[in-house]
Amino acid sequence: MSTIAPQSQPHAVIAPRPKGMLIDGQWVEAVSGQRFSVENPAKRTLIADVPRAAAADVDRAVAAAQKAQPAWAKVVPRERGKLLLKIAEAFEARVEEMARTIALETGNALRTQARGEARGAADIFRYFGGLAGELKGETIPLGEHVLSYTRREPLGVVGAIIPWNAPVLLGALKIAPALCAGNALVLKAAEDAPLGVLLMAEICQEFLPPGVLNVLTGFGVECGGPLANHPAIRKLSFTGSTEIGKVIMRAAAERIVPVSLELGGKSPSIVYPDADEDWVVEGIIAAMRFTRQSQSCTAGSRLFLHADIFDSFLAKLKAKTSALKLGDPLDEQSDIGTIINNKQFTKVCKYVEEGLSRADATLVMGGLPPKSGPLSEGYFAIPTIFADQSNDWRLAREEIFGPVLVAIRWTDEAEAIRMANDSHYGLAAYVWTHDIGSALRTAHAIESGWVQVNQGLGQSPGHSYGGYKQSGIGREFSLEGMLDSFTQRKNVTVNLNTPRRT
Ligand code: ADP
Repeated sequence: MSTIAPQSQPHAVIAPRPKGMLIDGQWVEAVSGQRFSVENPAKRTLIADVPRAAAADVDRAVAAAQKAQPAWAKVVPRERGKLLLKIAEAFEARVEEMARTIALETGNALRTQARGEARGAADIFRYFGGLAGELKGETIPLGEHVLSYTRREPLGVVGAIIPWNAPVLLGALKIAPALCAGNALVLKAAEDAPLGVLLMAEICQEFLPPGVLNVLTGFGVECGGPLANHPAIRKLSFTGSTEIGKVIMRAAAERIVPVSLELGGKSPSIVYPDADEDWVVEGIIAAMRFTRQSQSCTAGSRLFLHADIFDSFLAKLKAKTSALKLGDPLDEQSDIGTIINNKQFTKVCKYVEEGLSRADATLVMGGLPPKSGPLSEGYFAIPTIFADQSNDWRLAREEIFGPVLVAIRWTDEAEAIRMANDSHYGLAAYVWTHDIGSALRTAHAIESGWVQVNQGLGQSPGHSYGGYKQSGIGREFSLEGMLDSFTQRKNVTVNLNTPRRT
């Protein structure tokens, strides 16, 4: 992908110009010849266009992957790992270009978010590159006369579909483990954020045999649908909404294809009265992912505050959150960027309107976005906090995917845990206290795949990440995730007592 400054745009943003989609090692157009536009959500301007893939393109990509996979599976795992390590190195050399591309197309602020995502994606290639030697099986002790062992074999061609909120990191989380384990991959980028994923494909393709990695750009039903339903796909790996996760799982059920789903969340943060308020406030801002416009499945978007500190804590939270600067995602001074597109922006505004219309909900800060001034140029949503409502209203139950936090009072630990678990989601949770007993009792009682105590950080390579309940199936980011999601176990049992023909 070469970079150019489009003449038509006064702010002269460096916009990527994709060469096409990646199929069989070639940069190609869609069979239909159609393309679609990518928008810069901070300016509402079109910055690039990419091929609009549909069923015929899925067929081509899957055929290329089928052709390439057997030879790829035969490459000694350590050698596959070495190629991933070379990708990591090449990726690191282009981190800044990648970060700017991510910021430009997603609206995520360069300093607080996009640069970290680009570095994190490079780390993912490095991490899985080092794990190739761990694709080990076991021997089973069935007696001296028997050799029974298991092999970790690849599944074949994997179909992966990713969203736009951390497109490059989430793409790397499919590519690196799937390829390390000897699969070939057809990856569909999200229609709102294909540019960083195409740049990642370009970096990968320098080192990979043709067809091992194929990357399509297209829409959900039109391109993701045929991919999910393709008869030659042997595994589906999806990250996105719970609603579409169900569609993917139904497609997988039709053909009994294994499926991994990393879906939505409505994660609780429980703050105990003994916690240092100033310090925890910083953690709550991080856990809520305010600097990512809270467009994160792990956003701690339900804040359960102990009644003793409810008002003082919210006053401090308001003061610190108000100091965050909204602005052009490419500006190093900006802490917070924009919502991804008009549809999501409108959805977030509707939730805010609903909160404002409830007489029994207190607006602590924020509200509807400005209608004039520089921030009205893009999809800028203001961090908003509502207090004094129960865990039962829509804003406390539905995944908003925007910077709208609800604060709920509690006095009894068991009640806080009950409310935290009263959700069909179960992805992440945060517990804030210095009392080790309270912290661990609560961590163990919470129905979530990931509980952080006294921190609100993002995932790290090595940690098995995934959801309980409707937040998903399967784990990512880890060795176990790779083994469980991208290999299948074969058992070979050999009778060692066979007599020779005499
Ligand atoms: P979001 O609301 O975050 O965009 P989605 O779950 O709608 O999340 O989208 C995540 C990914 O799933 C995107 O790549 C999108 O194109 C794809 N997608 C959406 N609908 C379908 C579908 N019916 N079949 C397959 N993929 C889909």
